[in-house]
Amino acid sequence: MEVYNTIETLQNHISNAKLDGKTIGFVPSMGALHPGHISLVQQAKKVCDVVVVSIYVNPTQFNNPDDLLKYPRTLESDLELLAKSECDIVFAPSNEEIYPLDLPNISLDLGTLNGVMEDALRPGHFNGVVNVVYRLFDIVKPSKAFFGLKDFQQVAVIKYMTNHFKLPIEIIPCPTIRESSGLAMSSRNLRLNDHQKETALIIFKTLNLAKELAQNLTPNEVKAKTIEFFQRGELSIEYIEIVHPLTLVSLTDKWIEGATMCIAAFCGEVRLIDNQQIY
Ligand code: AMP
Repeated sequence: MEVYNTIETLQNHISNAKLDGKTIGFVPSMGALHPGHISLVQQAKKVCDVVVVSIYVNPTQFNNPDDLLKYPRTLESDLELLAKSECDIVFAPSNEEIYPLDLPNISLDLGTLNGVMEDALRPGHFNGVVNVVYRLFDIVKPSKAFFGLKDFQQVAVIKYMTNHFKLPIEIIPCPTIRESSGLAMSSRNLRLNDHQKETALIIFKTLNLAKELAQNLTPNEVKAKTIEFFQRGELSIEYIEIVHPLTLVSLTDKWIEGATMCIAAFCGEVRLIDNQQIY
């Protein structure tokens, strides 16, 4: 496994691989890696010759400065974990590499993906995500890029951006990896104590309850009942939505295939998100 910190050294290596006719699969990450991230590497290696993982905590996607400050940074153990995986190349750039002073800022109207769920509660977050992923795509130039469905709205945004700019990159959504308890793996779980990990299970229980209720009730009814259930737990709810999987428009009276429940909540000071297809 090779590790590069600069665009120049990374691109030299990648262009040699491309000259040999190899395909590049890309997994962008912010580090603090766990088996969820490694599952993306495994998916990538199944369908691409060379797997590139980036580790970069992108400051522009944090709307809360404290969250950025507290975001776990564990580069050494990340590299150890990746060395044991099927990752071929790690790109761990500095802020100066990613955001040179003359880099134009992209401002993209996300249509129906705007103003809902994460975008409503974390204004500017997806603008930061779009900018960093566009930049990383431009640097790595992969043929396929792998994103976790754990960040459901992010997958929709990246697909939208890729279509909008007609980028020749296939976006591959990958399933959410959970602890055996059902808690979705997340770098933020490092900040939860044992009691909080237990109370956070209300999220997965609510998603499962929604799936069960969806067989007999309308989306509106399921939403009302699951909010009531969720509020019996200790977490503080930010939103529970049932949405169309592509447009993210809220479903009210009728189900459509792929309907997905998305939840965001605070467990103490830690903000958790999760989702599940319920119909
Ligand atoms: P992050 O480092 O949080 O930016 O995540 C990097 C990538 O890993 C994103 O595409 C995430 O959606 C994905 N990811 C994070 N957690 C999980 C998980 N539990 N299962 C699958 N993918 C995940």
